[in-house]
Amino acid sequence: MNEKTFNELNLVPLIIRALTEKGYERPTPIQAAAIPPLLTGCDLIGCAQTGTGKTAAFALPILQKLFTNRKKAPPHGARVLVLTPTRELAAQVSESFKTYGRYLPLSHALVFGGVGQSPQVEALRRGVDVLVATPGRLLDLMNQKYAGLKSVEVFVLDEADRMLDMGFLPDIKRIIATLPRERQTLLFSATMAPEILKLAQGILINPVKIAVSPPASVADHIEEWVLFVEDANKRALLSELLKAPGMDRALVFTRTKHGANRLATQLEKTAVKARAIHGNKSQTTRMAALEDFRQGRCRVLVATDIAARGIDVAGISHVINFDLPNDPESYVHRIGRTARSGAKGIAISFCGASERLYLRDIERLLKRSVPVDENHPYHVSSFARSNHHPHATTRPDNRGGRGRFRGRPQRKKNRTAEGPLANARAI
Ligand code: AMP
Repeated sequence: MNEKTFNELNLVPLIIRALTEKGYERPTPIQAAAIPPLLTGCDLIGCAQTGTGKTAAFALPILQKLFTNRKKAPPHGARVLVLTPTRELAAQVSESFKTYGRYLPLSHALVFGGVGQSPQVEALRRGVDVLVATPGRLLDLMNQKYAGLKSVEVFVLDEADRMLDMGFLPDIKRIIATLPRERQTLLFSATMAPEILKLAQGILINPVKIAVSPPASVADHIEEWVLFVEDANKRALLSELLKAPGMDRALVFTRTKHGANRLATQLEKTAVKARAIHGNKSQTTRMAALEDFRQGRCRVLVATDIAARGIDVAGISHVINFDLPNDPESYVHRIGRTARSGAKGIAISFCGASERLYLRDIERLLKRSVPVDENHPYHVSSFARSNHHPHATTRPDNRGGRGRFRGRPQRKKNRTAEGPLANARAI
């Protein structure tokens, strides 16, 4: 958190009141850095990922701008357009705008695919202040003349790297082509790959550049473990882990949609309340599953990377990588779902025979090894020997042969004595 207060950032009292009620005491670093230039109307490129407080970093100055310069958007138009890659993220961003702007007389619309379009058409009919949308459905509505972007004053491209990963570039270009030239533009991305910079160059004018928490350092307050296990034993290991006290709300990642479904069904059979979310599920089902998880009606949410993108559920105690991701940055994104807003979280990764190279890539990105927990009934020692990161044998954070049952490796002095398996000794 930053030394500055929201007052010092010159936000209006009606916004500060909403933030205080939400329990925000001070701006996060990205908020402290981004809000002042955004209030003056600058373009901005932000290298930041979910979890840094980036949504408020752009939402607060935008709300203030809308409020202090009241105007009516034309029918079907919007004053602000935020584009996000996924429906879940769109819903969350829209919710954030509503929360922070709850004392401001502004209107909002949320547009994404997978649900009927009529309510969205109706929401846009008279024009809105803030429109949050995913690209595909927005283009649909634009083509049918239910949405028009001529009145957009501020355009935000959120999670631009994911947009590109998901193949949205042509859609984004089509949307941008209809925006007024004179506007304020903000681009956020977790990485600054060359194609992002190229996109940024084409749409931003003299942007302020802000970078916070590069992905590889996000995991600071997350306790990480890797467990070597045969693929065939992963389910049994997961069941044991889920019995441990303190396993309050676990987000479990699988690589495939099919794997997510299968695992959730299997968990339900063992009386563990679980839901699955992935791209093949209808939007309504995904939202319902997320809500069940958020409300504590199910303890385990099984997800694929894309479905989990942007999920912001408070109190995720554990992230479990049932399958390791083949893209090391996904590892960082995944484990960032726990330990939000400074809380502690635990990330446990299962590593099967075919995943040892993925682990190596992850450790290369992190520039450190992930501590190994050998002390579980399914441990395969041959995996550990042949795979591990070159640092592993030389760093005190990974001393082979030790594990939670016999006293855990001490990667950090302030670690708690209990770990994910510490309470599962009986197995
Ligand atoms: P974001 O990076 O926008 O997804 O935000 C991550 C989480 O941080 C969300 O749960 C926000 O509600 C929370 N958050 C954002 N700004 C602050 C703040 N200044 N103080 C405390 N929590 C915050």
